[in-house]
Amino acid sequence: MSKTRSDAIETGKERLARLLAELAKEFPRFRILKKRTSALQKAIHVALALITLGGQRVYLTRYHTVLFGTLWVPDAWDAMTDDDKYILLRHERIHLRQRARMGDVVMSFVYLVPFFPLFLAYGRARIEWEAYIETLRATAEVYGPESAEALRSHIKERFVGPEYGWMWPFPKAIDRWFDEAMADIRAEHDSAI
Ligand SMILES: [Zn+2]
Repeated sequence: MSKTRSDAIETGKERLARLLAELAKEFPRFRILKKRTSALQKAIHVALALITLGGQRVYLTRYHTVLFGTLWVPDAWDAMTDDDKYILLRHERIHLRQRARMGDVVMSFVYLVPFFPLFLAYGRARIEWEAYIETLRATAEVYGPESAEALRSHIKERFVGPEYGWMWPFPKAIDRWFDEAMADIRAEHDSAI
């Protein structure tokens, strides 16, 4: 595609606008709404804090959630840079595609009941991992592969820690997934230069 390497000269604002246009075309009903305006989202926040014994207290303030084709954004959304919104939307686009692939019922189950079972939620871990690969790819595109590599401990904690209900608490496995993803991303990056 002709746009491929003009990415380098795209500004953050242009990049975000391009992605939003792509999203609107691929998912015409896609919307971005504030979690705080939704009673259901507030109820999920309370339920998650209880279920994870307070491990997940930041659902309304920090977490982004795709539900029924809408991206529910936390309070932190307004303060994010265009580049960070771009990277986040690349991650969420994977969830939108997963939803299209799996159907609403499965995907809604995954997101409405995201913390059951606690521990060893392999299906959820793989769904999230697929989206985190895209986070790494988008981060490498915007900031370079080293910035993607620098996300390792942060992303690992999401899988092994309480924020997603200890969904796959095996740091070595996550490191292996991470290594594989970074090898691909570095190869893509090198061949694009
Ligand atoms: Zn995700």
